[in-house]
Amino acid sequence: MSPLKLVSKKSKTGDTVIEVNGVSIGDNQLVIMAGPCAVESREQIMEVADILKAKGANVMRGGAFKPRTSPYDFQGLAEKGLQILAEASERTGMPIVTEVLDARDIEMVANYAHILQVGSRNMQNFSLLKDLGKVENPILLKRGLSATIHEWLSAAEYIMSAGNPNVIFCERGIRTFENHTRNTLDLSAVLAIKELSHLPVIVDPSHATGKWEMVIPLSRAAVAVGADGLLVEVHPDPANALCDGAQSLNPESFGKLMNEVEFIASAVGKSMVI
Ligand code: PEP
Ligand code: MN
Repeated sequence: MSPLKLVSKKSKTGDTVIEVNGVSIGDNQLVIMAGPCAVESREQIMEVADILKAKGANVMRGGAFKPRTSPYDFQGLAEKGLQILAEASERTGMPIVTEVLDARDIEMVANYAHILQVGSRNMQNFSLLKDLGKVENPILLKRGLSATIHEWLSAAEYIMSAGNPNVIFCERGIRTFENHTRNTLDLSAVLAIKELSHLPVIVDPSHATGKWEMVIPLSRAAVAVGADGLLVEVHPDPANALCDGAQSLNPESFGKLMNEVEFIASAVGKSMVI
């Protein structure tokens, strides 16, 4: 029995297309997921939600539970943050993707959000993965900080074998010797996933680089290489963000990103629903 019984491309004819609130992930639509690193306040989220919607984002992101290196850093607004995201979704029609940090919170997060994110630091939290196999929501599975492609595929197999067929891979950079960027973006991972699995794969150039200036060019590259979508951090006021301001696009840059990736998307046969 192959250890990638369900994740492998050989297990299924055709690629998996995941439908969330009218957004198709994994077909010829390029899906743009965008929003701040963290939910900071109702005002911040409503402001950015309206901007994202107007500029054509398909899915809104924002963390209510934040995995921070230091326990003294902002940890997120927890359920209050989820309520704010749900209100933004009602207001704009955009589905929400947000991280579930702890298996004890799955039910609560699933009550408010559409797509549940497994962060890099939890990619091999096998008990969390098994529990996420029991929910109906699609799972956005970020690549572990130092995970090989096989380990990443195996993490998806945990979710699928527990009963949830809807997994989206997200390449977000890996740890290498290089420290000019926060991580090293592995765009070949998109090709590896496409070769080995039927599941969709998107790219997060924000966490991959830690530098907003690199986000638009690497978004173009990710689309050119065949990613099914992008996950980008956008903040109404990056200089005052409570986390990840340095890698966050401001609204104007996000508009620029949308225009530039649309051009590349059409060159590779993908459409954008704006
Ligand atoms: C995030 O998307 O907010 C996040 C914490 O990402 P990662 O798990 O990739 O570090
Ligand atoms: Mn972040």
